[in-house]
Amino acid sequence: MNDFSSMGLNEPIVSAIKKLGFKKPTEVQQKSIPLLIEKPKDIVSLAQTGTGKTAAFGLPILHHLNINSKTTQALIIAPTRELCLQITSELKKYSVNLKLNIVPVYGGSSIQEQSKSIRRGAEIIVATPGRILDMLKRKYVNISKIKFCVLDEADEMLNMGFYKDIKQILSNTPDSKKTWLFSATMPNEVSKIAEKFMKNPYRITVGEKNSTSTNVKHKSFFVNSRNRYNVLKLLIDSSPEIYAIIFCRTRRETQKICENLVEDGYNSGALHGDLSQNQRDLVMKSFRTKQIKILVATDVASRGIDVENITHIIHYKIPDEVEIYNHRSGRTGRASNTGLSIAFISSSDKQKIKRIENRLKIKIENSQLPDSKTIINSQINNYLKKIKDAKINSELETFFSSSENMLDEFSKSELLLKILSLKFDKKIVSPELNIEKNSKKNNEKDVRYKINLGIKDYYNWQNLKDFLTEIYSLHPGDIYNVDVQQSKSFFNSKQAHKKLIIEGIKNLDFNGRKISVTITNKRGQKDESSFSHRDQKKKRKSKKKYY
Ligand code: AMP
Repeated sequence: MNDFSSMGLNEPIVSAIKKLGFKKPTEVQQKSIPLLIEKPKDIVSLAQTGTGKTAAFGLPILHHLNINSKTTQALIIAPTRELCLQITSELKKYSVNLKLNIVPVYGGSSIQEQSKSIRRGAEIIVATPGRILDMLKRKYVNISKIKFCVLDEADEMLNMGFYKDIKQILSNTPDSKKTWLFSATMPNEVSKIAEKFMKNPYRITVGEKNSTSTNVKHKSFFVNSRNRYNVLKLLIDSSPEIYAIIFCRTRRETQKICENLVEDGYNSGALHGDLSQNQRDLVMKSFRTKQIKILVATDVASRGIDVENITHIIHYKIPDEVEIYNHRSGRTGRASNTGLSIAFISSSDKQKIKRIENRLKIKIENSQLPDSKTIINSQINNYLKKIKDAKINSELETFFSSSENMLDEFSKSELLLKILSLKFDKKIVSPELNIEKNSKKNNEKDVRYKINLGIKDYYNWQNLKDFLTEIYSLHPGDIYNVDVQQSKSFFNSKQAHKKLIIEGIKNLDFNGRKISVTITNKRGQKDESSFSHRDQKKKRKSKKKYY
């Protein structure tokens, strides 16, 4: 018998859950569902992403809904668009047997379209705080009759400065509603919300507070500011099957690390608050489908995102809060998989590491960097294993037969060496020995440019990079370290492209303003040139691609 059926849930819901293959309720579900079904009351639940909390609040909501009324009966508030969509998609799966309209509303997408969906009757609205507030102000939604209000990832919403918004949203809801608050951590601010807006809430804790997965191994590497990035590359090189999230502390750093990785030929994407929603969706889609194997992210942008089979979490910069370290590391080692959480630390981080170890009762093992021989061996072995496991495409056989003798003159080992040489044409060097040399060489070749386009012209680093690449017909890797400011931006390119960048394009203007590109390698010494934007349409087209 399915345990869910003994919880008192309506039959159409139990049957949907069965079809999804849920056999046993998770801990948070066991603790909340019976309680919320029998006599709903306010609850505060300490539960992290991946614990099954969406069903813990979603199933009782679906159970209590009056499906004959189109009135909005439940409002779920979540910090990010990604989480909003994730919750909506889960709820839709649980309610396949019910005729319901569950509408996600979030910023960065047409408010008119969202309002249209709500007008058709939305029994459940899943919203980000800013967008629902906007809709309330425009009277596009009516939440005055809701029975349930869920605050999901409450700690993150407060971190993102949504306290006032939440207060205002709640003031539009009836006193009679039940409020269910879910949070991965329980800082004082969240406790205060519970006290202020909830009536004698029932408290649920899933596992231990700050519980850590025993499937995760914790390691640290000493780095300095000069070699931090190179150590990152070493680690990636030493783990050919890596599927990782690299956590940085700021948006700018996240963007820079990702740009550098892409430029160095790694399959990587960035996720941070400066990206448009579409850009974030694209990155997440590529990451989930493993087209991108390395996601460089800020804590906020990646909150709530649940991706299976992550092998490595890398703390490029270690966070100040133990909870954040724990939350980041919890993205790996899910289910029965094992995972590695790797912190890059400097000597001033020793105290932080001690605090994390004591609070989470874990050991963060300080490790030596792998040497180049180990890395190369591991890369070669991995590639040979791929060759061994490769399925033979029978269609190729016809073409192959005519060329079969072409390689007769080579022995097996010669052939293998040739194949490996093609595969490892660049990376077969001693990485740790080249750290210093490479960075020096690169610096000598770099030229930094200033351009008079910026945020006010609707550019961000990615669409400016695209624009420059297109205008100069360069490879994306040729334009890097793009830093977009309000009315100007900076970017780097190799010395070899200097002539092209300065002289290559003439007579371009942007909205009647001449675009100027200036070398800013040495502050104060300018070597000016200018060009104008040839074709406004072209610019708009290139921008579109990235939104
Ligand atoms: P959540 O923590 O709500 O984001 O859920 C994480 C994942 O676990 C989702 O993909 C759910 O579909 C799945 N899930 C939730 N409850 C169960 C359950 N009782 N058994 C198996 N999978 C579940």
